[in-house]
Amino acid sequence: MGAASAPSTVSVGGAISRRELTIYEHNFGFWEIDGQVEQAFFEYVQRQSVQKTCDRCERRVRLMPAKTLCASCASALECGAPRTMSRYRHAGPKTGAGP
Ligand SMILES: [Zn+2]
Repeated sequence: MGAASAPSTVSVGGAISRRELTIYEHNFGFWEIDGQVEQAFFEYVQRQSVQKTCDRCERRVRLMPAKTLCASCASALECGAPRTMSRYRHAGPKTGAGP
């Protein structure tokens, strides 16, 4: 602990001023925050979250205590992806260029 460099994943606080904002965080993925309720829940989730290492991709992420996977891994598993990432490193968005 201490005044080490803060993780640069999500910076909350004062940034939410426009009426709609899309934020990515590791518990649930993308958020579309367009009101007080969403913002309050988002801040609640952030407060609950702790520094963890994702069980699958082994990145340092901030997750709620009950969670062991980051949002991208959780959604990948739902789509039938393998539990380990030994073969591929980073699945970027595909541009849809066909053969
Ligand atoms: Zn992960």
